Amino acid sequence: MIILGIETSCDETGIALYDTERGLLSHALYSQIEMHSEYGGVVPELASRDHIQRILPLIKEALSVAHCELADIDALAFTQGPGLAGALLVGASVGAALSFVLKIPALGIHHLEGHLLSPLLSTPAPEFPFIALLVSGGHTQLMQVGGVGQYQLLGETVDDAAGEAFDKTAKLLGLGYPGGAALSKLAGQGRPGRFKLPCPMLKSGDLNFSFSGLKTAVLTLTNKQKMDQQVRADIALAFQEAVVTVLTEKSLAALSRSNLNQLVVAGGVGANQQLRQHLAEKTALMGATVFYPQLEFCTDNGAMIALAGALRLQAMDKRESISTGTFTVRARWNLAETIDG
Ligand code: ATP
Ligand code: MG
Ligand code: FE
Repeated sequence: MIILGIETSCDETGIALYDTERGLLSHALYSQIEMHSEYGGVVPELASRDHIQRILPLIKEALSVAHCELADIDALAFTQGPGLAGALLVGASVGAALSFVLKIPALGIHHLEGHLLSPLLSTPAPEFPFIALLVSGGHTQLMQVGGVGQYQLLGETVDDAAGEAFDKTAKLLGLGYPGGAALSKLAGQGRPGRFKLPCPMLKSGDLNFSFSGLKTAVLTLTNKQKMDQQVRADIALAFQEAVVTVLTEKSLAALSRSNLNQLVVAGGVGANQQLRQHLAEKTALMGATVFYPQLEFCTDNGAMIALAGALRLQAMDKRESISTGTFTVRARWNLAETIDG
């Protein structure tokens, strides 16, 4: 069964073809980051318009790389939410139109379910059940994943997402948007121990996070210091260390509370090298293993949506119940609402 995945929830147009027998056949991506960076953030209307321009050429590209034709597709999976309503509508309407013309089912996929399952595109893949740390631009959550459609929220951020904190702090340090990767690079030149920032909610006794105070602490620090390149790097390092410490400790706590030994890290912040290093060291000590999506699938992409669609279809086994030709999007949508049974 071949599934075409469509992702347009924010500022990446992602298309992929996934075969339930052969795995990922192709994926094509266009990132609008450059266009939005001029404005210091994503401009929703520009995002929607750009998705419209990119989506059909990307579908053609993905088909051609996979040596497939439209007629070879058995089902469609599109990101139904959460995200920017106008951007989501582009993917959903193309998905609905193709589903109508090709007379194949179209599945609306929860964007976070895509992120969550993305490490299953790699080998070795984690096996259910596992703990997932979802650290993206809009979300920070710890989840227990029992299987496809079985997601139990263990804890989440009470304010900013980890990626959002990276981006806002990067902005304070004069780096571009989105600044997570740039901040991490700058931190590489920082002197360890030069500054110490608080690790918010480290000892809260639960699995929740808070990152907005950390950003304020950075602001206070930058106001007090005579800023030069070295001090900027020192602050970047202190910030990164605080975030990485909290993410690592809470992930370990989630593993031991649930008695599981596999941790999946998904979302853009999962690309952070210091986080990867800390998690590798700490999980090894407790005999647990960490799984990541391939770097290119850490941020938004069509492959994770195609995969989630394929797994959903296989789990469902009732294709008649899936709509063709109609669609809705959900700008706000809690993953818990997609849970099976
Ligand atoms: P959501 O999925 O919650 O809607 P999103 O899709 O925009 O959000 P992703 O694309 O998964 O989020 O991740 C983007 C975030 O990852 C940005 O905030 C970016 O700064 C951050 N990020 C990317 N690379 C790194 C890195 N090396 N270190 C830290 N943060 C990073
Ligand atoms: Mg993005
Ligand atoms: Fe995302």
